[in-house]
Amino acid sequence: MTLTVLMNAGPWLSVPPPGYGGIENVVATLVPELRRLGVRVVLASVESSTLPVDEKIAVFPDGQFSALQRPYNQVCGVSQAHLAGVVRALHRRDDIDLVHDHVEAVGLATMAAMGPDAPPALHTLHWDLAKHPELYGTLDGGDRVRVNGVSASQLARAPRALREHSVGHVHLSTPLAVDADRRPTTPKGDHLVILGRINPGKGQDLGARLAHEVGFPLVLAGPVGPYHRPEDLAAAGDEARQNPDVRFFHEHVAPFVDGDRVRWVGTVAGRERDDLVASARASLFPLRWEEPGGTAVVESLSLGTPVVATARGCLPELIEHGRTGLLTADEQELGDLVLAAGLLEPDECRREAATRFTPARMAERYVELYDRVRHGATVPLQPV
Ligand code: UDP
Repeated sequence: MTLTVLMNAGPWLSVPPPGYGGIENVVATLVPELRRLGVRVVLASVESSTLPVDEKIAVFPDGQFSALQRPYNQVCGVSQAHLAGVVRALHRRDDIDLVHDHVEAVGLATMAAMGPDAPPALHTLHWDLAKHPELYGTLDGGDRVRVNGVSASQLARAPRALREHSVGHVHLSTPLAVDADRRPTTPKGDHLVILGRINPGKGQDLGARLAHEVGFPLVLAGPVGPYHRPEDLAAAGDEARQNPDVRFFHEHVAPFVDGDRVRWVGTVAGRERDDLVASARASLFPLRWEEPGGTAVVESLSLGTPVVATARGCLPELIEHGRTGLLTADEQELGDLVLAAGLLEPDECRREAATRFTPARMAERYVELYDRVRHGATVPLQPV
């Protein structure tokens, strides 16, 4: 019998997303693989989504992301309206075997509130679980609503009520991992790269300081708040500093950005991003937060670039110290590890990615989870 899943991607961005869009990218990567495995997918998204699916449900014509700039009391209706559309559809039809929900907070709360006649639901936790303590600390989804994380370390930090609903974790994947071990190798340059939003948790200030102290070229790629290009940030007035990431960049990162030893190139995409990472000696993740999933980590491995990082969050699950990267609990040691990173084997990284981080592997794990959720399993999936 065909399994029909309502995949709730939310109202914020179309799927696949036009630019940055972590959750929408995961959905865009997962759905084709699920369909290859014979799952029927009904996508709850916005009308402009172009991802091929069996059916689409939408309340809004386009992604509502820009509304998030407005105050809470003017935007909270957006996700509620989307969820109301999903609930109406679930009441109207009887072909949905399971809801796979990705909508932060309100998706989980709505699924839990729907009552025993609703289909079972799996809610994927894509973010830092220190958020929403009120919701996560009091969650009661009965046997019908389950959650999964994107790493074991993320779930281990979750409030107890949330953990009691967990069926385990599924690591993130990337299309770059497909046949990563068969692609021609990219010649390595001398630079290191930090790919990610410029943000205190991602630690670009620490990486930039080390670049000067240890003496290695460093490229910082990623947006500063809403600014994707250095010229856009330069043109923004002083009020841009109200954004905490803009303030962090100006106060703690920019003093090290000299255009030579340390460069900030803004957001890179597509081929440019892949070449930048593939040609780097290593990717640096000088993390100061518990990275929940680490897409950029599995992308780096797929591109044959070892990872040098503080051993926080999911990093020890994704990286094998001494084989696919170098990890340390002590951020002062990162400089020594950068120097040693050239000894690691790019092919090892690519093999690891091709085995562990492909979209097909991720989809197989989700199909196992769907089965567990539908049959009320309480034992989490074996960790990998
Ligand atoms: N990214 C990108 N260009 C950039 C910086 C980041 O395409 O200049 C992408 C990166 O390749 C990854 C995503 O943004 O796919 C960041 O995801 P990750 O899970 O690493 O971090 P998050 O921002 O979700 O905490």
